[in-house]
Amino acid sequence: MVYRELLSVGEETVISPTWRIDLGGCSLRCLFCSEWAQVVQPHAAPALRFSADWFLPHLYQRNKQGARTISFVGGDPTVSLVAVLEVLAQVPDDAWLPVVWHCNGWLSDEARALLAPVVETWAVDVKFGNPQCAQRLAGVDGLKNDREVTRTLEFARSRGLLLRHLALPGHLACCTRPVVAKLRRDYPEIPLNLRSHYLPLGPARTASLARVPELKRLLSDVEMAELVSLGADATASKRQLEAK
Ligand code: SF4
Repeated sequence: MVYRELLSVGEETVISPTWRIDLGGCSLRCLFCSEWAQVVQPHAAPALRFSADWFLPHLYQRNKQGARTISFVGGDPTVSLVAVLEVLAQVPDDAWLPVVWHCNGWLSDEARALLAPVVETWAVDVKFGNPQCAQRLAGVDGLKNDREVTRTLEFARSRGLLLRHLALPGHLACCTRPVVAKLRRDYPEIPLNLRSHYLPLGPARTASLARVPELKRLLSDVEMAELVSLGADATASKRQLEAK
């Protein structure tokens, strides 16, 4: 199911402008999710069935408007894998644009293999700095999540990889710092997009957030300053590597 599409200039410069297609459903249930309604009820309005009849006319239109890539976003697009592969198989060669897969990294080996021939760039959002936060914030087996995300990063590294991390209030020490340190150590050549735009939407408005009260607020000024500093350090170390 597709619930939104737009020509986006707000993604990384190497993929923008991109035709962004937001698909319903997700493999995780993060309490900080801003797309919660579409994650838990992918068939609810305004969602439409994702099909070639919907996709091809939009593709021609967005192509004419300057789209350089197609971005499958979510939710997480992996739960729509079969529909996406069926639709992409019907795209004429002269209308094809490079495909970017925006995901949380929780994929099976089979899904990675099926996507390999069609996905040019993997934009992977590395969310948690430790298994406990993965369990508490997303109700997911933290160790398994860590293993699967690492497997996706290793798989995508030689193909085309963009790294992302959304900083959460109260989670700079336990999540953001370790994630940035790990990504800079293990993937120093890959661009890292540190995101500061967290808003307490979705489950943040419900009682479920009583379990995670820190997610009810924005990043504080102190947290924002630390994030800027972490981003500057990460950029400086990448530039040093490129200069060698
Ligand atoms: S992985 Fe992303 S889309 Fe899925 S529930 Fe978590 S924040 Fe929402």
